[in-house]
Amino acid sequence: MSTLRFRVVEAAFRKKAVEVTIPEEKQSEFFASRVFNREKMFRYLSDKAFTRVDDSIENGTPLDMETADAVAAGMKKWALENGATHYTHWFHPLTEGTAEKHDTFLDPDGKGGLIEKFSGKLLVQQEPDASSFPSGGIRNTFEARGYTAWDPSSPAFIVGDTLCIPTIFISYTGESLDYKAPLLKALESVNKAATGVCRYFNPDVKKVYAYLGWEQEYFLVDEGLYAARPDLLLTGRTLMGHESSKNQQLEDHYFGAIPIRVLGFLKDLEIEALRLGIPLKTRHNEVAPNQFEVAPIFGECNLSNDHNLLIMGLMRNLARNHGFRVLLHEKPFKGINGSGKHNNWSLGTDTGILLMAPGKTPEDNLRFITFTVNVLKAVYRHNALLKASIASAGNAHRLGANEAPPAIISSFLGAQVSAVLDRLERAEGGQVVVSGKQGLKLDIARIPELLLDNTDRNRTSPFAFTGNRFEFRAVGSEANCAAAMLVLNAAVSEQLTMFKAEVDALIASGKDKYAAIIEVVRKDIKESKAIHFDGNGYSEEWKAEAARRGLDSETSVPLIIDAYLWDSSVKMFESTGVMTHKELEARNEVKWETYTKKIQIEARVLGDLAMNHIIPVATRYQSSLIDNVYKLRDLFPEGKATQMSVHNLEIIEDISNHISFIKVKTDEMVEARKVINRLESAREKAIAYHDTVVPMLDEIRYHIDKLELIVDDELWTLPKYRELLFIR
Ligand code: ADP
Ligand code: MG
Repeated sequence: MSTLRFRVVEAAFRKKAVEVTIPEEKQSEFFASRVFNREKMFRYLSDKAFTRVDDSIENGTPLDMETADAVAAGMKKWALENGATHYTHWFHPLTEGTAEKHDTFLDPDGKGGLIEKFSGKLLVQQEPDASSFPSGGIRNTFEARGYTAWDPSSPAFIVGDTLCIPTIFISYTGESLDYKAPLLKALESVNKAATGVCRYFNPDVKKVYAYLGWEQEYFLVDEGLYAARPDLLLTGRTLMGHESSKNQQLEDHYFGAIPIRVLGFLKDLEIEALRLGIPLKTRHNEVAPNQFEVAPIFGECNLSNDHNLLIMGLMRNLARNHGFRVLLHEKPFKGINGSGKHNNWSLGTDTGILLMAPGKTPEDNLRFITFTVNVLKAVYRHNALLKASIASAGNAHRLGANEAPPAIISSFLGAQVSAVLDRLERAEGGQVVVSGKQGLKLDIARIPELLLDNTDRNRTSPFAFTGNRFEFRAVGSEANCAAAMLVLNAAVSEQLTMFKAEVDALIASGKDKYAAIIEVVRKDIKESKAIHFDGNGYSEEWKAEAARRGLDSETSVPLIIDAYLWDSSVKMFESTGVMTHKELEARNEVKWETYTKKIQIEARVLGDLAMNHIIPVATRYQSSLIDNVYKLRDLFPEGKATQMSVHNLEIIEDISNHISFIKVKTDEMVEARKVINRLESAREKAIAYHDTVVPMLDEIRYHIDKLELIVDDELWTLPKYRELLFIR
């Protein structure tokens, strides 16, 4: 092992778990202690201010300045009592993380001193000089005004010494520059549309919430080893590295005992997350070595998404206290599973009904079927767009690989629900007899018992029904869930609105309410059939079958992203008020640019490493072999020496072949980039990077990985997979 590599690997193996101070209180007692939630508002605000802000949170009523001032004062008091010295508007620009700019509460007191101040004005709106966040040309830099505006539906919280206020981020002219603003619009839209449909069954429903329960997968790597891998450091994934002889074949990591050092990190993470009101529930080892997952109890979509962003930040910070680095990239290591973030999604009413769950009465079950079929139809109509919502340079490594949902969106329903839909569609033997409430003879009343043993869970489906929710499994581990959630909620909202219009028209023409619903549901079952697939999503046959069904099977990320600008998508986004055509165009520019930049960085890093790590090391080893061949000639007669050198000569030649391939390809890649970088259009550039540069990365890697197997381990400078992946 090279000296450097030996030192980092040895240090990693010797690291001990860090002691974590466990709070004395029970978890439920310190839960949300760092959150200015309803309970704190009640304590820190006047009755009047509390009622107003509560109304604003529940019903979106605009807040007057007087109330904003009162909330700001209460928030400041609470924050100062809890050791905060700074505050920030916390927002989600179109990058993968969150952004914040900290200010202290300090202001001149007019008498030469300073005083802690915080007003409603500062709480409600700010103008961070955020001109270098991606905007897709909506703001050019001299019109760089971007505003952050308070989102009262997600409570403020304290991280370290800073009060964080969740905000949306919009341009001077009102366009969204973030993920939160369109997500909030989509949630409002689906609330309205779903409430309308829900009232056919439950007239007292006033509000429908979209719920999200995410499952965050990630890898941990020792910090020292990470630092010795420039590719991990700069791109979040390994661009080279031969598979370890042992990885996940034995499936001994999955749900295995959590290593002690990791447990220390997890404890720390859980305590911090609970303090921040994130209801973490589950932790376990995942399939790949060094891969783990955390999941909370599901909650309202906007808040749950904020929690996910918060926890990704927490993980990144806390891991370092334990000598780890967190890898959130979708595919940090070739040859073993990548990381996703299942988005468990459902709709539920203010009266406590989960709309994706079967109920006890025929009406309940018709409601369940109605919502399920509407979801299927929305997913069917926008299957390409849903795929676009999860497409990224990182996630491209998972999609289509045999570990993650394929690059075709389909929905698994399971035997029972499928049977019910089939029967309903065929309406065998006139079973669907409907005449008012009493006469509702729908045999779907039997669903609840059947569903109790609904255990046939299909892991290959990107959008699977799992008992009382759908699980959107194609989301990438590093993604902001909002990208997928805003598309899903908006698509479902559009569909429910169309559904209601059709049902209302039938009712107006004199049809019984339930008969009208069943008629439209049956039509929609037929129309959305193509999306329903309970088979093996990884199989080759499915690809052919999906093509026959007309489902989108594009695999190139830059082309997948086109779906945002299809007429059907623009119409959907505009009719639901979620995004305008202009916003969609701008955001696509950002997506293409981001894709290009990611591949560009990978290409540069790989080129550098090839030239200044791999080729020099391989050449050094090759020279020592050549030296050996010459020395054998000095020592032995020619015939004998030649015979003795056969194997070394082979290796010498092999090394030359690999080196020359790597050198030629790396030069070619540099040239290709020069040509592509001259392209004007962001879309064309991204397409060219995908078509030309991405395959080169793989080709170069192949030869580097071969060299890794040949070259003396003593000389190899980069930590290998077997070292990166099995640290305890
Ligand atoms: P699995 O890995 O088996 O899918 P997990 O327990 O890891 O299950 O995660 C399931 C996630 O789904 C959790 O976050 C859970 O709170 C969430 N969930 C459960 N029911 C619903 C629902 N009705 N709507 C949204 N999310 C839900
Ligand atoms: Mg799951």
